[in-house]
Amino acid sequence: MNPETFTVDGDRLTFELAELGKIGLGDDGGYYREAFSQADLDGRTLVEGFMEEAGMTVTRDAAFNTVGRYAGENDFLPPIVIGSHTDTVPCGGNYDGVLGVLSGIALVRALHSNGTRLKHPLEVINFSGEEAVSPGGTFGSRVMTGHFEEGLLDQIVYSDETFRELLERVGIIIENLSTIERKKGSVAAYVELHIEQGGNLDADGISVGVVDGIVGFRRYRLVFSGRANHAGTTPMDRRDDALVKAARFVVGVKETAEKFGIVGTVGTLEVTPGAPNVIPGSVELSFEMRGLDDSVIDQAQERLTSFSRELDASFEKFSHKPPIISNKVIVAALQEGCRRAQLEYVVMPSGAGHDANLMATICPVAMLFVPNKDGISHSKEEYCTPEACVNGANALLQGIIELDLKI
Ligand SMILES: [Zn+2]
Repeated sequence: MNPETFTVDGDRLTFELAELGKIGLGDDGGYYREAFSQADLDGRTLVEGFMEEAGMTVTRDAAFNTVGRYAGENDFLPPIVIGSHTDTVPCGGNYDGVLGVLSGIALVRALHSNGTRLKHPLEVINFSGEEAVSPGGTFGSRVMTGHFEEGLLDQIVYSDETFRELLERVGIIIENLSTIERKKGSVAAYVELHIEQGGNLDADGISVGVVDGIVGFRRYRLVFSGRANHAGTTPMDRRDDALVKAARFVVGVKETAEKFGIVGTVGTLEVTPGAPNVIPGSVELSFEMRGLDDSVIDQAQERLTSFSRELDASFEKFSHKPPIISNKVIVAALQEGCRRAQLEYVVMPSGAGHDANLMATICPVAMLFVPNKDGISHSKEEYCTPEACVNGANALLQGIIELDLKI
């Protein structure tokens, strides 16, 4: 049988989503499978069973990443990896991450039940501790790619336990973490299917987004100085109001982002002294910009730096993550996969980070998005129709079959 005609078992995928959906469900309707909680571990065990049933050899590594492997015709080739996560934020949904892992399993099941192997070995990875409930988030993929910072182990999580204590309590041996590191070139390609979380696909009625890159972000801190004074007795023309300057800058961020086709957000403002009867003497503000093209963000930054100078503010960049550009061969294969699965698709960037960000440091990556209702995620309202889930899994299946031939 020609693999181009394979489809995933949609009923089985829907069943597995529902089965996992019985674990960690709170009375309020949200999911509580926070990293390394009992519900998270129970969910992980359940998914390991799904992997075995689908025909994979399953191991749980030193960081509690589950790796399901389906041998290739040439098992010495580096694997094509499909991954995501099944942990949730507190009161999260049952699709964020989950759909990526279960779609990978659905893909392997489709190959296995048709007695087919690809040229490359396939690995489906359920990464541990992706949500930022664990310090820094993306714990498992950080460890696997050699980006875990030991300093995070001393941070307090949940109640009064350090992250180290939590990991040791569930059985993770810290000294063994470095043994699972994978080197550059040891993975042929990484593909992650995820709910979009942005609402564009849902609003436009499009089945699949092929992700051409994950936006980078930069974060900045500014301090605007003025002179605190009596709000009743100081005439309007003799004021030096720090908040009025900051307000002009807030509008400047919005206009600059619009001008350059990126997104920009002022997220915090701290007004000192902060009383209704005192003219603000100083304002600390932080904002971020995100975009797919570093040179465009450079220009936006230049414009806002000079604006901050006009307003006599200090300007400091405190965080900078460069964008990740998807691999063109994978993107083309995923587009071909959508066409073969007869699904309407659009090429689009990802506005959020994923395990794919870390995997990009060791191999070529790309992602697929499926529409989730109104773009709502990290919420008990998070929802994907069964049809949207199955469509995404079919696009992934056909995309990976194509990719296997192209690399
Ligand atoms: Zn996720």
